[in-house]
Amino acid sequence: MRAHKLECPFPKVYPSRLSPDDTCHMWLAYNQAIDAWREDEVPIGAVIERGGEIIAAAHNQVESTKDPTAHAEILAITQAAAAIGDWRLNEATLFVTKEPCPMCSGASLMARLKRVVFAVADPKMGCLGGASALHELPRINHRLEITGGILEAECRELLQRFFREKRQTSGPGVDETGL
Ligand SMILES: [Zn+2]
Repeated sequence: MRAHKLECPFPKVYPSRLSPDDTCHMWLAYNQAIDAWREDEVPIGAVIERGGEIIAAAHNQVESTKDPTAHAEILAITQAAAAIGDWRLNEATLFVTKEPCPMCSGASLMARLKRVVFAVADPKMGCLGGASALHELPRINHRLEITGGILEAECRELLQRFFREKRQTSGPGVDETGL
């Protein structure tokens, strides 16, 4: 059963797309995370950029779909592959508000993404350097570039506030997945 639904107190941010950089793309992922909160999901969002274009945008939907694999990154990777008609995303960059978990780190490798950029490192479940580093498997033949810490404070605040308010309405035991 779902706990009491919280109103999201954060507004979306609309950055200029004139000179799209990592920060600009991360704001788009941040806006996806806000969409997640508005649907009473843990606020994690992702977008995928390729050749200057956003080819996927998704947010966590585990609760609404009752699907433990419905993480923002997985949904975005599926969308991106459909958008370009190829499962190989080797010219694409994934922007996500929290460091990918084991499943999503694995999916990033299997999709042959060029880069993953995340905001908040996750020392508990992050597998791109936080808790473990799947991309550094010794015999892996795909090189995945990683950048962490883009818009970290903003994305961390969103997550921490969500869990703090959830705890206030639902009591202790709300899983913060390492935050
Ligand atoms: Zn994940």
